[in-house]
Amino acid sequence: MSDSFDVIVIGGGPAGYPAAIRAAQNKLSVACIDAWTNRDGSTAFGGTCLNAGCIPSKALLESTELYHRAQHEFAAHGMKLERISLDVAQMQKRKSAIVKGMTQGILSLFKAAGVTPLTGHGRLLPGRKVEFTGADGAKRTLQAKHVVLASGSEPMPLRGVDFDGRQIVDSWGALEFEAVPKRLLVIGAGVIGLELGSVWRRLGAETVVLEALEQFLPMADAAVSKEALRHFKKLGLDIRLGAKVSAAKVEKDGVDVSYTDAKGSQSLAFDRVIVAIGRRPYTKDLLAEGTGVALDARGFIEVDDHCRSGAENVWAVGDCVRGPMLAHKGKEEGVAVADHIAGLYAHVNYKAIPSVIYTAPEIAWVGLTEEQAKAGGRNIKVGSFPFAASGRAKAMEAGAGFCKIVADAGSDEILGIHIVGPMAGELVAEAVLAMEYSASCEDLQRTIHAHPTLSEAVHEAALAADRRAIDIPNR
Ligand code: FAD
Ligand code: AMP
Repeated sequence: MSDSFDVIVIGGGPAGYPAAIRAAQNKLSVACIDAWTNRDGSTAFGGTCLNAGCIPSKALLESTELYHRAQHEFAAHGMKLERISLDVAQMQKRKSAIVKGMTQGILSLFKAAGVTPLTGHGRLLPGRKVEFTGADGAKRTLQAKHVVLASGSEPMPLRGVDFDGRQIVDSWGALEFEAVPKRLLVIGAGVIGLELGSVWRRLGAETVVLEALEQFLPMADAAVSKEALRHFKKLGLDIRLGAKVSAAKVEKDGVDVSYTDAKGSQSLAFDRVIVAIGRRPYTKDLLAEGTGVALDARGFIEVDDHCRSGAENVWAVGDCVRGPMLAHKGKEEGVAVADHIAGLYAHVNYKAIPSVIYTAPEIAWVGLTEEQAKAGGRNIKVGSFPFAASGRAKAMEAGAGFCKIVADAGSDEILGIHIVGPMAGELVAEAVLAMEYSASCEDLQRTIHAHPTLSEAVHEAALAADRRAIDIPNR
């Protein structure tokens, strides 16, 4: 095998592997190095997303939502279940099979595209050389015209709350529980904490979520956060805001957790603790001395708007660089970099990156919240449509939530779309497309939406922004 490539990608997650595939599509010779190792010692491409993030979490969210709905919704449909029993082992087996299929799929994609996969560790040396250490420990020095760094991120540890891999775990550990914990604590009410808390709560865990901030989901539109919080409480998630965890100690009959809130010092005991306080960039052993690649104060690789690092022809994409830690953001960066390398036009529209929280109701948005638009001095108009008025949502027994559009009152340009309700993550795709094309409210109003579909809520919200909704009174 050649030791020289046009492009070497270090990291085979959702930022790295698309970069490799696009570079190969652009007729460049490409190797993609990945070091991911599973708990059983097996290796797999796909990074956090496929092995321990997006995919396994969505598999468990789907299973547990079905379980919850079977218990709480079937009766409304006229179906009586005498007894429903839970087989966590089978649920986990299904999840693992999905993960395995998806990660092996990357190797098939590499084969079809002509990317050379290299399982092992990559370290950037000066002069676009890469030291590759294979699984057997053997080292080789590879040479590249361009190097793409896509080393991803890792869970943020919490001082005083040490992971023991059994009772105190990170998000990966929380996806692997073999049984439903009786008393569960989730530290951090962010996206990952809420999704994992929902999974185990739906299966019956008494679940407390401690969140240091006073505000719930501060990055979401305030109306969406408020509606979501109401439903999470209804599910039985005991969400306590303004509660900062400082220590956890594993004792004989559980984990003693200390936190402070407005009333002072508190302590509670749990069987399992999930630390979900965020993620930090992962660049351990990635950069040798003298590469010219710089890290910022928070450990992210410094890049410009096109993901160029400070070193010539060294690029960085995904969670290891600034911006939201989302798989689709990394994918767009990876693909754009591979096109730049080939001399093609490429652009990542950072203003139209959707966010999705896969809870029930689902939460999704793109663009500015009402609060952000106002704070930015925009003169805005707002239209909102509740799923309670959507025939399709009612038929689905999913009338909770709404779709809300924030638009410029003068130009009519859509500034943001915020959805809390059924299939919000799918519905937001229309919103992203609209924003990508700088659509106006009128554009959405004139677009025909099939009836009865959930997407009519987006249409009606656009109409409501001009007080012209048909299926709700315009107030
Ligand atoms: P990673 O996926 O972390 O991949 C980096 C890869 O590089 C890893 O395989 C790592 O082993 C390898 N690597 C690192 N250093 C080296 C080296 N020196 N040599 C060789 N290999 C190396 N995002 C979403 O968009 N939607 C979701 O629904 C979603 N759900 C999530 C749920 C959970 C529980 C978690 C933890 C995350 C979730 N995310 C989600 C976030 C998403 O997983 C990340 O944003 C995404 O994986 C980042 O992609 P990446 O390629 O930058 O890094
Ligand atoms: P995210 O960054 O979206 O993954 O969310 C992580 C959440 O964890 C944030 O809302 C933080 O405020 C919260 N958090 C961080 N440290 C603590 C802590 N010590 N106790 C409770 N919550 C925390």
